[in-house]
Amino acid sequence: MRDHLIRATTPGIRAFAAVTTELVEEARRRHDCYPVASAALGRTMTAALMLAANLKTEETLTLRIEGDGPLGTVVTDANSRGAVRGYVKNPQIHLPLREGKLDVGKAVGSGTITLTRFTGLKQPFSGSAPLLTGEIGEDVANYLLLSEQTPSTVAVGVLVQPDLTVTAAGGLLVQAMPGADDKTVAAVEENLARLPAVSQLVTEGYDGAAMLEKVFAGLPVNLYDSYPLAFNCPCSKEKVENVLISLGKSELEDIILDGQAELICHFCNQKYIFERAELEDLLKRLDNK
Ligand SMILES: [Zn+2]
Repeated sequence: MRDHLIRATTPGIRAFAAVTTELVEEARRRHDCYPVASAALGRTMTAALMLAANLKTEETLTLRIEGDGPLGTVVTDANSRGAVRGYVKNPQIHLPLREGKLDVGKAVGSGTITLTRFTGLKQPFSGSAPLLTGEIGEDVANYLLLSEQTPSTVAVGVLVQPDLTVTAAGGLLVQAMPGADDKTVAAVEENLARLPAVSQLVTEGYDGAAMLEKVFAGLPVNLYDSYPLAFNCPCSKEKVENVLISLGKSELEDIILDGQAELICHFCNQKYIFERAELEDLLKRLDNK
């Protein structure tokens, strides 16, 4: 099943479902993540994609999980066109399982969740909330309640195999709109309580539409078109060149003394190597400005 995101509504309630197995596996490979890091990064990327589903075409958002655990900060960018990228500060940490599950909460620790929306010309809008458990899903829901006054249920899951590969990942985001009917809310809450973990649903072959039909079982459902999701980082050698140029002349001359520069994009782990001749070209371009 290819990665995708789909939304559905019933009067007063909207829901989003995402299947993100391939993109989480790609992030795992790019960053060489151990299981608990794959789970934390995958859950955060999945949540970011669902939150980004409401953005306008040109907007992007950044979801940051800053905890005091051994994993360090988790950062992801997403947009409503289905692109996401992300990294975790310490991808190669290992913690014992807790009750047979990856201990994402302990790996993340306590701290802050911050969501920033980049809307183009205007100032970015940013809000934050304390982390509740570090398990990501509850933390995003807590953020949405405290910072945006939207009661939400967020379920995000990543299944990692003993050989470290990610074989299932996905998420559900369910939000009650102002004026939602109590009976409808109660019915959806009951459906959610009966639902197995998202990673299990994805493993069983449920796509986003099938998950949303479970969420809204017994209620009228309006399903929207789904769209594909992918790990995508817009970095390029040209952009890295501009970063080098912006360092200024003396900094660049110092780098040339070292003979070579190696820059790595945090988000996708792509390595950019600049040989001495290329660096000297950049210096010339700077001189000609
Ligand atoms: Zn990149």
